[in-house]
Amino acid sequence: MARKTEVELTVLRTEELAPRLRRVVLGGPGFAEYLAVHLPATDSYVKLMFGEGEDVVRRTYTVRHVDAEAGELTIDFVTHGTSGFAGPWAMRARPGDTLRFRGPGGAYRPRPDVDHHLFVGDESALPAIAASLEALDPGARATAFVEVDGPDHEIELTSPGDVTVHWLHRDGAEPGTTTLLDDAVRAWPWPGGRVQAFVHGESALLKTVRPYLLDGRVDRADISVSAYWRRGETEEGFRRWKKQQPDAVIRPGR
Ligand SMILES: Cc1cc2nc3c(=O)[nH]c(=O)nc-3n(C[C@H](O)[C@H](O)[C@H](O)COP(=O)(O)OP(=O)(O)OC[C@H]3O[C@@H](n4cnc5c(N)ncnc54)[C@H](O)[C@@H]3O)c2cc1C
Repeated sequence: MARKTEVELTVLRTEELAPRLRRVVLGGPGFAEYLAVHLPATDSYVKLMFGEGEDVVRRTYTVRHVDAEAGELTIDFVTHGTSGFAGPWAMRARPGDTLRFRGPGGAYRPRPDVDHHLFVGDESALPAIAASLEALDPGARATAFVEVDGPDHEIELTSPGDVTVHWLHRDGAEPGTTTLLDDAVRAWPWPGGRVQAFVHGESALLKTVRPYLLDGRVDRADISVSAYWRRGETEEGFRRWKKQQPDAVIRPGR
């Protein structure tokens, strides 16, 4: 993580974007401190902090949107159930609650000089995918594959680009157990020219979609691939697993 600024913000309002996705809009006096270190990346993330001192628990979340004029920072949380810290916190969040975090980090932004943008992810990556689609140049060609539970879980995505979104439905299957994204990307007629790819979500993507893209389809410099969570693991277990994986994160330019 590039910056270590610690900020505390206050919940201003919440919104149910979909049955498993809750938006929390934050603001308050700490916003100016955050704005001073805000990054232009569309996958900017911060480390939320729950608890105090040695018992503090850290959870990683995308900065979905920053509105400098209104003094607001938006985070979209997957509400995946009652286990864990961040998801359950978001389910309970009410105006006036506070949230501490450190950051930001992040490195991806759609390049203006490619022929096609590819986005692949589940709900955890939807905030970064949505922010990236909004940042495309007018007319830029893009295709997104997004795995959600069903039609009710799809959200509105806006972009100045020429975007095709494929919503893939788990239909009640447990998140992180399907091959929907991998199957869909492999069945997709590969576009010609230079493709920049953003592949983030459950850890299986590292073993499925990533090798397919790196097999001569996308240059390493044009791919951002990172696991965002791992089925059956808390973020602590996931971090331990990630450290053992060669190439668990490929960032642009590496
Ligand atoms: C750079 C980065 C950006 C991220 N951005 C976002 C974001 O904007 N929004 C977002 O919702 N998540 C995001 N994530 C994923 C998020 O950090 C993890 O989902 C995290 O584990 C959630 O913490 P928790 O305290 O709710 O659950 P934990 O205590 O970590 O885990 C408790 C249980 O819930 C399961 N679990 C965790 N996440 C999910 C999930 N998404 N679906 C189903 N089961 C799950 C775990 O496997 C575990 O069994 C991001 C991760 C990274 C690395």
